Amino acid sequence: MTMTLTHSSLALQGGPKTVRTEAGDLFRWPIITEEDEQAALEVLRAGKMSGIDVTQQFEEELAAWHGVRYALCHNTGTAALHTAMWACGVCSGTEIIAPSLTYWASAIPALSLGATPVFADVHRDTMCIDPRDIEHRITPRTRAIVAVHYCGYPCDMDPILDVARRHGVKVIEDVSHAHGGLYKGRLVGTMGDVGAFSMMSGKSLAIGEGGAFVTNDSELYERGLAFGHYERHRLVTDPALAALGGIPLAGVKYRMHQVSSAVGRVQLKYYSARMAEIQKAMNYFWDLLEGVPGLRAHRPAKDSGSTMGGWYAAHGLYRPDELGGLPIARFAEAVRAEGGICSPGCNFALHQHPVLNEADIYGDGKPTRIAHGEDVRQPTGSLPVTERMQEWVYNIPWFKHYRPECIEQHAAAYRKVAENADQLR
Ligand SMILES: *Cc1c(COP(=O)(O)O)cnc(C)c1O
Repeated sequence: MTMTLTHSSLALQGGPKTVRTEAGDLFRWPIITEEDEQAALEVLRAGKMSGIDVTQQFEEELAAWHGVRYALCHNTGTAALHTAMWACGVCSGTEIIAPSLTYWASAIPALSLGATPVFADVHRDTMCIDPRDIEHRITPRTRAIVAVHYCGYPCDMDPILDVARRHGVKVIEDVSHAHGGLYKGRLVGTMGDVGAFSMMSGKSLAIGEGGAFVTNDSELYERGLAFGHYERHRLVTDPALAALGGIPLAGVKYRMHQVSSAVGRVQLKYYSARMAEIQKAMNYFWDLLEGVPGLRAHRPAKDSGSTMGGWYAAHGLYRPDELGGLPIARFAEAVRAEGGICSPGCNFALHQHPVLNEADIYGDGKPTRIAHGEDVRQPTGSLPVTERMQEWVYNIPWFKHYRPECIEQHAAAYRKVAENADQLR
């Protein structure tokens, strides 16, 4: 089916386009039906936007879906991560260990707690934090490791949990890219001390603006309530925390908008089925590209018991040496000319950004990163895999439906460019 196309000339050089079928709603997300609309309208008509009753129902369902005791909703994923960090003891003069290759919210909230991130390198094939690059970075100041299941790929949790336990350090899973993903059969977000995630409308579990954390630990849950949920302080049983009731300890208000909770309840109901269809479609795309030079799937091995959840921000791995050194930008341009979807790179590396090196955000008279502890700044050259990752990855189409004909055309666009790479050099 794809083979017939591979030796025609590239669309970039005037040949026929490979992707001809209209995408329709193949990529549309989230899927919003009348049920979502009704749920949102109910909240609006009842004037319950700022209440917590719908949110608490959503939390029960989120906790049950994850098989954990507690879920605590927040108005953003950033807020959920900020809360999770403080709940885990991240405070002035302490450190977290996080990947530099991630969306900023996995690490930057630490700065507002007076703490600082120390970045570990990622593994080239998983794009996730490299478990071998964590232990030597642990100091007496380390409070937590943030494991980001990046672009849906589940982090190698066994060695991460092992290092953390041996050093008495908490593990925060950032599940913003991987809702519903499995690591060796275990649900992501439920293996560490706390799982935190975004549910903003671009994510695979998409409800509007919103985030949550899930945990089995009642102490972490109560600390979460005390940090940004003043209206629920009566639920705090710890006497020292309860004595501080009425004022959120962070001086922030993290309550979820109930239109988000209402839509979230509907989205969660259908999420497993929709995720299964995404998995079928995405795995089909990669199966079609098995063995194509220069290209590797970014997904765990089939017999590993691990999955990619909803394949948020789906990426592929690039091996330029197999294509005569063809730069990824040129490869991607040729795929796009075929009518395909491909753009080079991924999130920029945080450790090279001026906010992590120079910015004095809180007026300490020195860069915030080092205002309360050691100078842990990491110059260019210190995270070699992270720094080169932009050359080795590209985003791929994120299919929401299993429509073989369309998927075959998109895969054929990639195959055609890879097999004719010599024409581009
Ligand atoms: C989106 C995202 C967040 C932050 O979530 P918001 O809801 O946008 O605040 C955190 N971590 C990662 C890895 C993300 O992609």
